Amino acid sequence: MSESLGTTGLVLNEPLLWERGKKGRCGFSMPAGDVPSSPLPAELTGDGPDFPDLSEIEVVRHYTRLSTWNFGVDTGLYPLGSCTMKYNPKINEKLAGLRGFAAAHPLLPSVLSQGALQLVFDLERFLAEITGLDAVTLQPAAGAQGELTGMLIIHAYHRLRGKQRTKILIPDTAHGTNPASAALCGYLPVPVPSGPDGILLPETVVGLMDSETAGIMITNPNTLGLFEANIREIARIVHDRGGLVYGDGANMNAVLGVVKPGAVGVDILHLNLHKTFSTPHGGGGPGAGPVAVRKDLVRFLPVPRVVERNGAYELSEGFPESVGRVMAFHGHFGVLLRAHAYILSMGPDGLKQVSRLAVLNANYIREKLKDVLHPAFDRPCMHECVFSDQNQQETGITTLEMAKRLIDYGYHPPTIYFPLVVHGAIMIEPTETETKEDLDGFIEAFRSVVREAGENPGVIREAPVRCKLRRVDETAAARNPCLTG
Ligand SMILES: *Cc1c(COP(=O)(O)O)cnc(C)c1O
Repeated sequence: MSESLGTTGLVLNEPLLWERGKKGRCGFSMPAGDVPSSPLPAELTGDGPDFPDLSEIEVVRHYTRLSTWNFGVDTGLYPLGSCTMKYNPKINEKLAGLRGFAAAHPLLPSVLSQGALQLVFDLERFLAEITGLDAVTLQPAAGAQGELTGMLIIHAYHRLRGKQRTKILIPDTAHGTNPASAALCGYLPVPVPSGPDGILLPETVVGLMDSETAGIMITNPNTLGLFEANIREIARIVHDRGGLVYGDGANMNAVLGVVKPGAVGVDILHLNLHKTFSTPHGGGGPGAGPVAVRKDLVRFLPVPRVVERNGAYELSEGFPESVGRVMAFHGHFGVLLRAHAYILSMGPDGLKQVSRLAVLNANYIREKLKDVLHPAFDRPCMHECVFSDQNQQETGITTLEMAKRLIDYGYHPPTIYFPLVVHGAIMIEPTETETKEDLDGFIEAFRSVVREAGENPGVIREAPVRCKLRRVDETAAARNPCLTG
């Protein structure tokens, strides 16, 4: 390929600050004291940490060097499927930092928090409109907590109807958090096999949906990047047998302004604001997993809820059937603020364009790679495309090795070995924010890696060679994490 983004350039080693410090160095100059010095009493100093002494430039260089060891969306394409690692406009960061919001104390009385409460109220309405459902809670801190909240609502619904049920149907193309959330709520997750086209077949659901089954959890688009085209029919079957339909809407960035889940039979749905609505994520930063519900489930939403009375906003606990509080205060307010700003700045047409571009970009990659990588399904995808390792079998090169080699070309690897139903899966999600030139660069790099797999497999087995760290022992890192530095 012409010129790869990966480089062996100047990436400096950097010791710990403790190893760098020298007693007596200082980052600032203070005028001499004009009162006698008096040491702190021993009971106040105790055995506190021994902070290193450093000059200002040592500290600046330390953190600047460490920052060059990272790869992020601001560095380059980050096609991690299922995660939606898209670029987020910086203006939303700026707005989230506005003092009136960032410094607002959550215990201030409502009369002094009208702006913040209105923001919560309005964002709930925006998300209800986008999902085609009737009301929303913004409390859950992430997608998985949204799922748990949804399961609690399903549980409360069946309890109120007088008969609790024991099982939840979960397709094999669902996100891994789905069965975990159902189990946390005491339900037995029942796996539902997807059909030959990678989507659910109504007849499979008919065979499993019985009077002990509380509902179904459908990820749509599913983790194969495919739209569950039979969703209406499946929802009808589940509803006819007294169940509820939970939609995992973490992939909503594929269908914004195109499909309203509430209009195709979904009763409860969570969104991932940190994927679709402008909060940068990865590294465990805060997220938000709002949950939208249809009218007759509103009574179960977490409290307190923001209500409007005579033009003023207040917090209400007056929902006796609520599942209770699931998060301190109103959830991750800064994340909500970014989503609010993003939705207003994009507008309905802009949001629809987001989804169209996300789908277009994924299909562009799929088309440009399908002669060298084997597509998992022979049909257009939504916002992410999935390949198997079938074409590479005879070279002996694995999905993992190709992913590592991509790093040498300057790209973050895509998601690999997920979804589990595809052998050696490679799951690429380019997102809507990448330019055609960047997509072409990635495609060229991947084609080059595939060529090497056939012609020069040795170089792939060695990869990555241009990084500070080469192959790490991922199992040991997970089993014995070193959290102290
Ligand atoms: C990311 C994701 C989740 C989990 O969201 P978290 O915020 O990581 O808890 C659930 N479902 C799908 C489809 C996802 O992509």
